[in-house]
Amino acid sequence: MSDLFPARVGRMIPYKPGKPLEELERELGITNAIKLASNENPLGPSPRVIEAVAQAAKGLNFYPDGAAFALRSALAEQHGVGLEEVVLGNGSNELIDLACRTFPDPEAGDHCVFGKPSFVCYWLGCTAAGVDFTEVPLRENLHWDLEAMAAAVTEKTKLLFLANPNNPTGAYVGREALERFLQDLPERVVVVMDEAYYGLADAEDYASGLELRHTRARLLVFRTFSKTHGIAGLRVGYAVGPAPLIAAINRMRAPFNVNLLGQVGALAALKDTAHVDRYIAMNGTERKRVGRALSELGLAVAPSQANFVLVDFERPGGEVYEALLRDGVIVRPMPAPIETSLRITIGTPEQNDRMLAAVAKLKKGD
Ligand code: PMP
Repeated sequence: MSDLFPARVGRMIPYKPGKPLEELERELGITNAIKLASNENPLGPSPRVIEAVAQAAKGLNFYPDGAAFALRSALAEQHGVGLEEVVLGNGSNELIDLACRTFPDPEAGDHCVFGKPSFVCYWLGCTAAGVDFTEVPLRENLHWDLEAMAAAVTEKTKLLFLANPNNPTGAYVGREALERFLQDLPERVVVVMDEAYYGLADAEDYASGLELRHTRARLLVFRTFSKTHGIAGLRVGYAVGPAPLIAAINRMRAPFNVNLLGQVGALAALKDTAHVDRYIAMNGTERKRVGRALSELGLAVAPSQANFVLVDFERPGGEVYEALLRDGVIVRPMPAPIETSLRITIGTPEQNDRMLAAVAKLKKGD
């Protein structure tokens, strides 16, 4: 069967999402499992989203607006940019994939740079597109090594991904370092600032790529409705950047890539700022509390600016993962080189208490 597909397809490893709640409940015969594995918003969607989606469902016989005019206009207005500077994706995942297929030319040997560990979809996007890449290890403290990333840029580098804050570490790059980094990269490189966790970062010197657009022409900022807006199930993300970059992505985008309910739901979510603010406030408080509680249990917790914490259990993470599953708590195991760590999403206070109790029980058994 070796002629069935090109070698790059053979190199692909299907994305492994967090274990679904229903699956664990079925396996354990329980009904009260909690999922802290996929950095979802534990408060659920805004009631306004549910209402808007229910209304819009009546029109499901029609194709959605292929240009997503209403949602793109609202986003353009919110960010103070033109309509031609915004494109939507089926989640920001799709935009990552589109960036890998749009900017580097695999036949010309173009190259991409991103960090490790970071969001696995940069690897998947490059591999699927047959684009050569360099993964730059984080520093020992799990922070970005911007000097090493800049040094990894070659004559052939066309694309660079930087998640800020990063997944799975929760670390961020501050304004000054980021500004210098963006300014100094060669003009040729399209930089994607992946800001999936934007809004959750509260460090004083955190800066969005949208505030740093003066640093370079080839800068794209990716955002998502999956986290702070609580509609991961609707799959809506967007990119903001200069019109020629957005137009290039638009050439490669599949028709109707963001569905009708996604467009309507995201617009409603955008308008319910109180719902978003409530979640951001809860996450900020709980992130501190959970971090402190895990540290008190003797675990190393990476300082996080997102809605999860990376916790080093200093033993094979798979064992800890399985033990927590038996207690009805789903977290996320990590690949090498951080295979002794687990990534734990910050939930509601009740969910966090339940997770902390399960971890404490495990530590007691050590
Ligand atoms: N970027 C990062 C850094 C992420 O962690 C995620 C989701 N886990 C995404 C992008 C993709 O989010 P979505 O496709 O739901 O917009």
